Amino acid sequence: MAASQPTSIIFAAAKVGGIHANGASPADFIHDNLTIQTNVIHAAHEAGVERLVFLGSSCIYPKLAEQPIKESALLTGPLEPTNAWYAIAKIAGVMTCQAYRLQHGRRYISVMPCNLYGPSDNFDLLTGHVLPALIRKFHEAKISGATEVVVWGTGSPLREFLHVDDLAKGVVHCHDHYDDYEPINCGAGSEVSIREVAGMLRRIVGFEGKLAFDMTKPDGTPRKIMDSSRIRLLGWKPEIGLQEGLASTYRWYLEHVADGRRFA
Ligand code: GDP
Repeated sequence: MAASQPTSIIFAAAKVGGIHANGASPADFIHDNLTIQTNVIHAAHEAGVERLVFLGSSCIYPKLAEQPIKESALLTGPLEPTNAWYAIAKIAGVMTCQAYRLQHGRRYISVMPCNLYGPSDNFDLLTGHVLPALIRKFHEAKISGATEVVVWGTGSPLREFLHVDDLAKGVVHCHDHYDDYEPINCGAGSEVSIREVAGMLRRIVGFEGKLAFDMTKPDGTPRKIMDSSRIRLLGWKPEIGLQEGLASTYRWYLEHVADGRRFA
């Protein structure tokens, strides 16, 4: 960092994963994220980097926070247990930025995205998040002629999904227009149940079989829609609707991940 002398850092590097990965590797999630953050934020300060945008996650907020969740809900109640180690690390990252602001006057800010999806996602069935996992499951079921696809949990949890290209614009917008101590939410502003979004993906992929819900798998938090009114007031809003974003993500998957045995 000292050699390249950046003036700004967009800090998206992290150990991330879906509900299963968080539960299976809590030590990796807390250790890797604390280590990455502590190193990068301190090195940025030492190198005199003026601006840094740290990316957190909506899971930093209490499990039973009032919805839609405002930034002021941070540290007001217990966390969702399925991703508490990741959340604690991200809360520490937010507070590290705040500490360097307070002690050293660094203009380091934190942006909290909701659940994300889009090209270059992790399509691994065990470690990925719900949308890439379901895209792959529906695609492979269609190719193999399977009669059902297994969706984890009850299908009733609600999630707020934002396309990564919208997030990227939101992050640059915050870099250019936001400079404050409090984290700032960057969400899609609408939510959908896992059952509904599974139905959307089934139609997009063209799988004609059934959905089976595996109740032995965890649901995670019932709902976590954020209040993104502060970033909206700054002039950012999402541009990619969920249907359009899921369809283009599936096209990306076909071109880059699926092994060529694709149907017309
Ligand atoms: P979360 O938002 O932190 O809970 O992360 P996920 O994206 O992993 O999971 C979101 C919801 O989708 C949870 O209720 C999961 O149980 C549900 N889900 C349904 N099927 C799947 C799947 O195949 N993979 C994952 N990761 N989640 C699934």
